[in-house]
Amino acid sequence: MQKILNYINGEFTEPASAQYIDNFNPAEGKIYSLVADSDERDVEKAAQAAKAAFSEWSALPVERRSSILQKIADLIDRDLDKLARAESIDNGKPLQQARNLDIPRASSNIRFFATAAIHFASEAHITGTEAVNYTLRSPAGVAGCISPWNLPLYLFTWKIAPALAAGCTVVAKPSELTPMTAFLFSELCIEAGLPKGVLNVIHGLGPKAGQAIVEHPDITAISFTGGTVTGKKIAATAAPMFKKLSLELGGKNPNIIFADCDLEQALNTSILSSFSNQGEICLCGSRMFVERSLYDQFVSEFVSRTKALVIGDPLDESTRIGALVSEGHMKKILSYIELAKQEGGKILTGGNRVMGSGRCADGYFVEPTVIVGLDDKCRTNQEEIFGPVVTITPFETEEEVLGYANSTAYGLSATIWTENLKRAHRVSAQVKSGIIWVNCWLFRDLRTPFGGMKQSGVGREGGWDALKFFTEAKNVCVKL
Ligand code: NDP
Repeated sequence: MQKILNYINGEFTEPASAQYIDNFNPAEGKIYSLVADSDERDVEKAAQAAKAAFSEWSALPVERRSSILQKIADLIDRDLDKLARAESIDNGKPLQQARNLDIPRASSNIRFFATAAIHFASEAHITGTEAVNYTLRSPAGVAGCISPWNLPLYLFTWKIAPALAAGCTVVAKPSELTPMTAFLFSELCIEAGLPKGVLNVIHGLGPKAGQAIVEHPDITAISFTGGTVTGKKIAATAAPMFKKLSLELGGKNPNIIFADCDLEQALNTSILSSFSNQGEICLCGSRMFVERSLYDQFVSEFVSRTKALVIGDPLDESTRIGALVSEGHMKKILSYIELAKQEGGKILTGGNRVMGSGRCADGYFVEPTVIVGLDDKCRTNQEEIFGPVVTITPFETEEEVLGYANSTAYGLSATIWTENLKRAHRVSAQVKSGIIWVNCWLFRDLRTPFGGMKQSGVGREGGWDALKFFTEAKNVCVKL
């Protein structure tokens, strides 16, 4: 069976423990490869390699770093089909989504930051006729980048690309549930001529390998995307060590639909924002609020479109809903559906595990599920489910829906549907989320600040924010 090895100092390396974790194909519910079960000994080797590589990599002209990164992006494009298939098998997501979204976005991430770093300029402040201040920005050192399983290569590259472009060296850990494309990516780094030790990829469990990265004294900046509970643990470890910290955490995003919306667009996009990637996207709009006068029509249309979604073999081109990432995650989703029933929710469609056929007979499939009749304060409407489950609640006024939208501990993103421009601006300003989409969803410009408020995170990624995070600013004041 294939072994997924660590990539340390430019070479594939067995874990110090010589132990491996089973890696499942979630569409089949079967083990198909083995992942290195790394610990603090592997992290130590990786951190030393990254530290040794830092002085040369950070001193390279930015154009040179940029051209190596762009070569990696070219290789991702060359291997699009291979990587998309690997992502689909590892995560359970539809192949067509991996091919059209995940893998192209991984190469865009790299190309974007490879070129952004060339254009990155720092500030100067002229203090009257007395002094000039200018800001020097130097690479932050060895960065730890920890990413989740839902968009594996997409989020892995979203972190490591700005770090490497800024001149940091990196110790990265993908989720042990979806390590395959980070492993294949390591092969591409070797082929592209990335110098040894610049990127090190450690595979294994979060509380062991991930925690060792966060604790390591030579890893001075931590960029983490994952759940809020894990984020709290990471902050508790990193804060007393005064590490730089960027946290992109969970969400419970409102999707607000006013009666004056373009109904066809709102319906089509809401199907995507509810169920893309089986609802396993931190930006999915899991709480839908529909203005009362449109409510009955919207719900009936939305439910009939949900019923039409094809669930099944992720490798089948017609599939729109693939498998959930793991048996544990599937059980969590099903338990939330049970909770919704106990809380008085009515399931209009879905609610059950789907038993696939053929090779997918034991896969982790759950029907896209639409629930109505719940209070906005109940657990189903307050806690992140992170699966193909949405609730729909009617509202009468802007004030009422703003109360619902802002009622959770999260503040990642929100979507607003209206043709009234003034209302769009007014509501956007009042929703407490880091990202607002008006009449669209997941429309991304990589230059924009990306991140959440409240328990959805600390700091922003994207554009200059990411390059600033991976550099240390130093002000130089020169008296004239
Ligand atoms: P987790 O928080 O469980 O894990 C994220 C990563 O952290 C994994 O690599 C995990 O390893 C690792 N990890 C776990 N414990 C520790 C630890 N103590 N120290 C260091 N690393 C650790 O999240 P999931 O993988 O379950 O991802 C889903 C979550 O991610 C959802 O809450 C979702 O909302 C959020 N998310 C947020 C995004 C955003 O941009 N705001 C984007 C995408 C997802 P392992 O897998 O081995 O446990």
